[in-house]
Amino acid sequence: MSDCIFCKIANKEIPSEILYEDDQILAFKDINPIAPVHLLVIPKKHIISVNDIVDEDTEVIGNIFIVIKKLAQQQGIAESGYRVITNIGRDGGQEVKHLHFHLIGGKELGKKIG
Ligand code: 5GP
Ligand code: ZN
Repeated sequence: MSDCIFCKIANKEIPSEILYEDDQILAFKDINPIAPVHLLVIPKKHIISVNDIVDEDTEVIGNIFIVIKKLAQQQGIAESGYRVITNIGRDGGQEVKHLHFHLIGGKELGKKIG
């Protein structure tokens, strides 16, 4: 989608610090990190949110979690633990309307999720 910031990042129209890329998936550093490790993992396909995932997206969504697992290992936080978050819609606090998974860790995150 032409006016989507994460599509622009996927198309390299906007620079980002990329840590992983394949034909379907991109992982890059969040521009405003809330923890020592704060990455965003996205499908290159413009999917707005979990609400918009369809059957044909099953493979890419599954692969995203394999990428998340490998990135957590590479970042050295697999053993200490981390959090994966996807915000959905207004009440979920979703600002960028392109499906993304926050991979957050490198410090104790606490129990509060809301
Ligand atoms: P949301 O609130 O939609 O779940 O999270 C959007 C995330 O995208 C935020 O954590 C924000 O810091 C990040 N973000 C927004 N614009 C950019 C950008 O241009 N580049 C990068 N790397 N991250 C961005
Ligand atoms: Zn997009």
